[in-house]
Amino acid sequence: MRIIREIREMQTASRAAKLQGLTIGFVPTMGALHEGHLSLVRRAHSEASLVVVSIFVNPLQFGPAEDFNKYPRTLEADCARLEAEGVEIVFAPSSAHMYPAGATTVVHVEGLSEKLDGSSRPGHFRGVSTVVAKLFHIVQPDCAVFGQKDAAQVAVLRRMVRDLNMDVRLVVAPIVREADGLALSSRNAYLTAEQRRQALVLHRALVQVEAAASSGETRAEQLRSIALAVLATEPEAKLDYFEIVDPDTLDPIDDVSQGALAAVAAGFGATRLLDNVLLPKRQRSTP
Ligand code: AMP
Repeated sequence: MRIIREIREMQTASRAAKLQGLTIGFVPTMGALHEGHLSLVRRAHSEASLVVVSIFVNPLQFGPAEDFNKYPRTLEADCARLEAEGVEIVFAPSSAHMYPAGATTVVHVEGLSEKLDGSSRPGHFRGVSTVVAKLFHIVQPDCAVFGQKDAAQVAVLRRMVRDLNMDVRLVVAPIVREADGLALSSRNAYLTAEQRRQALVLHRALVQVEAAASSGETRAEQLRSIALAVLATEPEAKLDYFEIVDPDTLDPIDDVSQGALAAVAAGFGATRLLDNVLLPKRQRSTP
């Protein structure tokens, strides 16, 4: 496994791989890797002949009061896990290389970037779309794999790829969970045992919503009430949002029969966690 730190070297390696007729699957991460990340790596291997994983804690997507400095950095352990997965290249650039003095160009997906997490984390999605656009230019992937865990991010990046005619196929992989339902996240490491127990309420709320929808409830407002009642059972959880939206536009919808995204974000102590479920389009029942 090659570990590349220089942008030019990564570009040269990608060009050489393509000249050999290889296809490149790309998994962008911020490191502190867990099974969720590794599931994306496996998916990338099934979609392409060579896999590049980037590890870069992107300062541009953190707000001034957020956890950029304390975000877990475990490069050595990450590389060992990626090597065991058969990853061909790890790209781990420095911030100084990614954002040299005077860098002022950004990619901003207007409108979508201000919804869901974007409304409580101003500038977050601008940071995400900018770094992913840069990484796409550097790695030149044929396909890039993202987790459904960050559903709003998927919507923003899909729109970016479409609007800027980027020649990259986006693949979205399902959420990987602990046995008790908690969605894996690098930030779970911040939780105390008690907060981790409280955090299970996110999954419980979504399971109830899914169950109600699959037994025929199509009114988003009803589904939202069900979720809020479950979330209220953990008064320590600081709800940021629970919304039922169109997965592409992130606009709230009233009726879920054409499919919907139910997404939740809440704080447990200083740790903000996300979870979501895609409600499938309802099949028309035969008369
Ligand atoms: P991060 O390192 O948190 O920026 O995440 C890198 C990628 O891993 C993103 O595409 C995330 O959506 C994805 N990811 C994070 N957690 C999970 C999970 N539990 N299941 C699936 N994908 C995940």
